[in-house]
Amino acid sequence: MTVMPVEAGFYVTSGFGPREGGEFHYGTDFGRDGGSGNHLVFAIRPGTVQYAGQAAGFGEWVTIDHPADVGGGYSVYGHVIPEVVAGQWVGEGQRIARINPNPATNGGFPPHLHLEFHRFVWAPPGPDRIDPMSILAGAPYPDSGALAAAASFGDPLFGVDVSEHQDGISLQQAAREGISFAIIRTTDGTYRDRCYRSHLEDAEAAGMLTAAYHYLRNPSEGTSIQEQVNASLAVMGDAIRPMWLDVETEAGLSVEHVRAVKQCFEAAGVRVCGVYSYVPYWERRITGGEPDSNEFGALWVAAYGQNPHGAPSLIYPGNSHPQWDYPLGNQKPQIWQYGSNALVAGFAVDINAFRGNRDELRTIFYGGVTPPNQPTKEDFLMALTDAEQRELLHLTRDIATQLQGPRQEDLPDGQKNPAGGRGWPQLGATPTGQYHTLVDGLSETQADVKALLAWAAAQSGTTIEAIKNHYATTQEGK
Ligand SMILES: [Zn+2]
Repeated sequence: MTVMPVEAGFYVTSGFGPREGGEFHYGTDFGRDGGSGNHLVFAIRPGTVQYAGQAAGFGEWVTIDHPADVGGGYSVYGHVIPEVVAGQWVGEGQRIARINPNPATNGGFPPHLHLEFHRFVWAPPGPDRIDPMSILAGAPYPDSGALAAAASFGDPLFGVDVSEHQDGISLQQAAREGISFAIIRTTDGTYRDRCYRSHLEDAEAAGMLTAAYHYLRNPSEGTSIQEQVNASLAVMGDAIRPMWLDVETEAGLSVEHVRAVKQCFEAAGVRVCGVYSYVPYWERRITGGEPDSNEFGALWVAAYGQNPHGAPSLIYPGNSHPQWDYPLGNQKPQIWQYGSNALVAGFAVDINAFRGNRDELRTIFYGGVTPPNQPTKEDFLMALTDAEQRELLHLTRDIATQLQGPRQEDLPDGQKNPAGGRGWPQLGATPTGQYHTLVDGLSETQADVKALLAWAAAQSGTTIEAIKNHYATTQEGK
């Protein structure tokens, strides 16, 4: 239930208790030979981040409130650079921060982790702050596998980019298949995509993070940049989303064209997230040579390799693939479109990966401003008290149990079905020997009623319809 806040190799450099000079140290300091700076810090127990940021004496800190069912208490991690945000739920052993290597910003100390443990809630110095080592007695270090994963990146977020070419795709289904974000086309030049609204509503109803993109045409292809932006604005109407600039037209472009489209969008109040392009294009097809991409925001690169078919996670080349380190215009990509043949919701689609969490992607899209009308699952849970969350969890489990029936191991002896699975003993068994679920039982009952009606109709020389009508009529007076 509890793990060490640092990796193996750290040791206690200053324990909890009185120090020379009469000062009392209300925490435990961890350090290591060779320096602690930039080493990772882990949550000792699951919980909700209460603070992550500036704190007097620490430079910055992270604090976590632990619910009673994981042991309770409140932990404090000082002299760190936080990697989590207030309100975020973190798991046991999850990476939450790095040790700040800089005494100029860590409160003025040689780099180390200062860990405190408070008995119930955050408490001022006093008896409610207890020796963290009493909590950590026997606790393992975060295991090396988890450490390796944390040291690189966690699971990426997968996303799709869609236009009217994917008309009919269910982004709700895509979300169930693990797609977390959608970038939706408004326009190609002045051509207005007819599916912007429907894709956007579908994606946001599914809880995806969304942004828009505009395929930029060279004015030599027939439309001015302002006309293109006007068309994009008309498509968005009141559903304005942050904009990616799609830089790949065969006619070629100049850096001034990209600047102009960014300025036109921004003049209309649309945030520009960055540019989308592919390597040879950005390097060679933009007049004047490879421009710096930083001035346009983030970089979203397309590079397909073998472009295999398959599920997004199966064809993803990985978080440590060298494409992630290949800069374009002095900037490494934040989003990588690594294929155009991913199978999502039954469609072959462009597929993208982002090596970070939802909050980090939201910052790239929206610049740290919470987007309107996009409550997250976390927001919903945070609106509930702990007791309400527990009640919701129990209710959800209860409903699932009613629908699927109990697991065999939860049934009393004598009722356990050797065929396994879930189901209700009182509803009888299916042809494969497993107990019926509620739906099975209902469909069986329906079949029985039909057979009974057919039998009754045959016996009385009438029709099923006539029996039903008679039944309906006799019920009316009741
Ligand atoms: Zn300390």
